[in-house]
Amino acid sequence: MIGIAYNEFDYLHNIDSHVENSLRTESIISEIISYKKEIEDRINFFIVKDLNYQNETWSLVYKVHTQEYVDFVKQKVNKIKKFEFLDPDTYITPHTLKIILSNLEILFSLCDWIVSTGNYGFAYIRPPGHHAESKKAMGFCIINNVAVLARYLQTYHNIKKVMIVDFDAHHGNGTQEIFYSDDTVLYFSTHAYPFYPFTGSNSEKGSGKGIGYTYNFPVSIYAGDKELLEIYQKDFVEIYDRFEPEFLIISSGYDIHSHDPITYMNCSLDGINKIKSIILQKAKYKNLVFVLEGGYNINVLKEVVKYDINRIQ
Ligand SMILES: [Zn+2]
Repeated sequence: MIGIAYNEFDYLHNIDSHVENSLRTESIISEIISYKKEIEDRINFFIVKDLNYQNETWSLVYKVHTQEYVDFVKQKVNKIKKFEFLDPDTYITPHTLKIILSNLEILFSLCDWIVSTGNYGFAYIRPPGHHAESKKAMGFCIINNVAVLARYLQTYHNIKKVMIVDFDAHHGNGTQEIFYSDDTVLYFSTHAYPFYPFTGSNSEKGSGKGIGYTYNFPVSIYAGDKELLEIYQKDFVEIYDRFEPEFLIISSGYDIHSHDPITYMNCSLDGINKIKSIILQKAKYKNLVFVLEGGYNINVLKEVVKYDINRIQ
């Protein structure tokens, strides 16, 4: 069994002309639905059916972001009519926070199930989160979804060691910043460098007791399957074995594909699938969740889902 989570309302956080638009997840979801009959008995669906959320979810957001930053976003969201930009790339709509909070809750439900059954899952949620820092929105990201999830797992499931693996083409500067001095959440990233957001050199290794719990593997901005697979086969495996995480969160960015419109990387669908297989095998197909980050070619996203579904057949 695998778990799949998504939000039927994420069209409410959307600007059609923006590259991070709701067509991304709509395409993924329609692809899943086209397979639903054949795979129904092997998938547990977690779907946001309404946008109400619990106040408790905010307390987890505050474990990751400052009160001042969250209040600033809340005020903005309450005032706007259609949309507004928090930075040159990152928009919000009147519904953005409701979408993010309901995304987080469905992600928590998916992970409750993963922990209790020892399975794994995929969360096809947006907006992405890995560029959002504790005090700053950035690069299409407002709240850092995977960081909040890590704190949720530690708070509600007594999980001590969480590893976040980020294979997005862009460095997850937000996730790195949030856990930079933390020795309970290990951040492992492969990314194009030097490239947006221009962080993630291999000299960034953590601070204080977090030294040795941040691992950056910058690759050429044109790198492809070969470069990334070498890192996952060797370094990922070594670091995983040393840290022995109890739960793995994968910031899954499909903008590493050669057809992505906003990057220059050259991975193939097969290569992406192999990276995911290495991670899955290492974790013995349990206690891990793939959370969508980037990936802006709709056809690539559809193909990625096909690979995910074929894996469970
Ligand atoms: Zn990206």
